[in-house]
Amino acid sequence: RELTIETPDQSYPVYVGEGALSKLTELFAGPLKGTTKLLVIADELVASLHSEALQQALPPQLSCEWLTVPNGEAAKTFSSFENCLTFALEKGLDRKSCILAFGGGATGDLAGYVAASYMRGISFIQIPTTILAHDSAVGGKTAINHPLGKNMIGHFHQPAAVVFDTRFLQTLPEQQVRSGFAEVIKHALIADPAFLAELKANVKSFKDLSADFLAYCLEKGIQIKGEIVGKDVKEQGVRAYLNFGHTYGHALEAKLGYGRITHGEAVAAGMVFALHVSERKAGLSFDLKEFIVWLKGLGYPLDLNNGLPFEELYTLMARDKKTIGETIRFVLLQEVGRPVMKEMSRQELEEADRFMREEAA
Ligand code: NAD
Ligand code: ZN
Repeated sequence: RELTIETPDQSYPVYVGEGALSKLTELFAGPLKGTTKLLVIADELVASLHSEALQQALPPQLSCEWLTVPNGEAAKTFSSFENCLTFALEKGLDRKSCILAFGGGATGDLAGYVAASYMRGISFIQIPTTILAHDSAVGGKTAINHPLGKNMIGHFHQPAAVVFDTRFLQTLPEQQVRSGFAEVIKHALIADPAFLAELKANVKSFKDLSADFLAYCLEKGIQIKGEIVGKDVKEQGVRAYLNFGHTYGHALEAKLGYGRITHGEAVAAGMVFALHVSERKAGLSFDLKEFIVWLKGLGYPLDLNNGLPFEELYTLMARDKKTIGETIRFVLLQEVGRPVMKEMSRQELEEADRFMREEAA
């Protein structure tokens, strides 16, 4: 299955499905012809599981260097960024070389930023291996973390292609499936009521999710994200809708510590929070009770604010990038598929936080 992401300056293909890796040789014979050298930047865990499959799919005529980076978030540090650049220089990558990002969103963010920076920008291909990366691999946001803030150092740099071979997902632990699937649900909520209904009807547990249906969900999610990004690459308008569930979610994540809960688990709680507020403030009519039961059945913990004072979450939300002045801007839904930005007062946020403690938990 093939999709195209179109931005005003660029368009690139996204291949999703089992065996998508075979598209790599076509890419290097076609749009990326003339590539001098390849550098795979791989999550060390993913490399240990799947490097052979990728090796076999690479065009044999091209020389290829491999560099593994720490798995997960530990990849997104200044020192790992520097290692990548040093390695690329030592191996003689030039402006026509291409970087392949092999791993989840963390590796993709790092490798994308390396590609954006090396010699003022070389091309790169996203080869995502997590469900969450259906979100992060598309759209061109690349970043590493600063000790003072996550994703604070980065660049917009679109990949030349995204090759999403769903075979890799077979080794993904259930907690990571749950994490990534939250972003699929988010994409349905902000853009497509029929898709949301399909998800609710078909996904009752992550254990018996068929590979076919999963590939379909990823394709849908990528399509929704791609359309929004195409309209607003630099996040000056509608792209902010993709942050649905993220303002409260990020506060929980920051407070609980990255790694202790997954990003998607925090976002799921954040979406319930935003849906509750949407009912009160944006005229949303929605069966939130049923939605909560569904999420809990899928194993999403919704009591993440348990023991966290509202004050601390509020401070974190106020620090969020979407804050302007005193009020906090939130993405809400007028209807499923119709997001809107609204300013939220402290009282309104406190009430929703109480709802999370007393009713959603
Ligand atoms: P991740 O890259 O940290 O991967 C999660 C874990 O799964 C890691 O331990 C990894 O080693 C392991 N893993 C990856 N693929 C596997 C496989 N096939 N089998 C077994 N284990 C595997 O996390 P993620 O959830 O993919 O992505 C989260 C990151 O993405 C965060 O850093 C976040 O900031 C970033 N992100 C970026 C964007 C964007 O637009 N650029 C959007 C959303 C999230
Ligand atoms: Zn997210």
